Amino acid sequence: MRVLITGGAGFIGSHLCEFLLKEGHEVICLDNMTSGTNSNLEDFFYHENFTFHEHDVTKYIHIHGELDWVLHLASLASPVFYQDYPIKTLKVGALGTHKTLGLAKAKNAKYLFASTSEVYGDPEVHPQPEDYWGNVNPVGARSCYDESKRYGEAITMAYHNKHDIDTRIARIFNTYGPRMRPDDGRVIPTFIIQALNNEDLTIYGDGTQTRSFCYIDDLIKGIWKLMNTQINEPINLGNPDEISIKELAEKIIDLTDSESGKTYEPLPEDDPEKRKPDIAKAEKQLEWEPKIGLREGLKSTIDYFERVKV
Ligand code: NAD
Ligand code: UDP
Repeated sequence: MRVLITGGAGFIGSHLCEFLLKEGHEVICLDNMTSGTNSNLEDFFYHENFTFHEHDVTKYIHIHGELDWVLHLASLASPVFYQDYPIKTLKVGALGTHKTLGLAKAKNAKYLFASTSEVYGDPEVHPQPEDYWGNVNPVGARSCYDESKRYGEAITMAYHNKHDIDTRIARIFNTYGPRMRPDDGRVIPTFIIQALNNEDLTIYGDGTQTRSFCYIDDLIKGIWKLMNTQINEPINLGNPDEISIKELAEKIIDLTDSESGKTYEPLPEDDPEKRKPDIAKAEKQLEWEPKIGLREGLKSTIDYFERVKV
């Protein structure tokens, strides 16, 4: 297969590039390096089946030849980054999704949209199944991201319904692992770097808010299963093992053997109180479930950050 991956120099995108190359496919990566890094591409940059284009997906995209798949992962993804660049975030979710769908239509390619658990906002239903419509503040601090992804889902379904494109919508829940940026701002890289440097871990709020963290290798397998199963409606991909942010901090201090303490800072606006995927649909229809526990996944991630020495 010949696959285009937007956002391929980012955390999830680079793992997907590497996975598809190993499966014997040709990969074209398109990224404007907003948050992507050259080092994420190092392991396969010179692979004979890999091509890189530096390009902004909100602008017209020209790709020579046929394409079997367009995987649209480009987005600002960390709350710190997307709140710093709200207009770029809205544009990549709206204009970028439109452009990449147009490309898929022109090439008669299948299409996958990387959506998010943020479409559920600060959820009032717990855990979150796909048929929950969410609780999103349309003008709050997170709205640039949440609404861009909700729009992205809507236009993906519209192209499926009107133009008969074979589409997928992956609602990805908090995913972590090697190749996240140390300065990403998301909680796992932030806590690991703080712990490795024996600095206090910065807990926002009282740390009772929860998340459910999925290791990258499990997510990539889920995306691959989704590509190979014709499910056009949104599907949750994540690990339902829920943990409070305070417990997460304690686990990371323990696993790094760190002398760090914990400090408490104000909770950011609209920070969801709890999040946990209902993955019954993925279990049944994809025959997929995450296999890597938090302890094991954190150890590999800590090893990575120790190796890159930050
Ligand atoms: P990331 O920041 O590491 O990767 C995103 C990539 O998109 C970066 O390489 C960035 O440079 C690129 N990009 C941004 N704007 C672009 C533009 N206009 N044109 C071209 N490239 C652009 O983030 P990630 O965690 O790898 O996320 C990948 C996708 O998965 C995103 O769509 C994100 O919303 C989604 N997602 C991630 C998570 C998670 O926990 N990691 C959870 C839910 C959804
Ligand atoms: N968080 C924290 N300290 C940090 C970074 C994040 O306590 O230094 C909290 C954040 O407020 C949220 C949770 O960790 O409640 C997960 O944050 P992240 O940015 O990783 O992703 P989110 O799930 O909020 O999109």
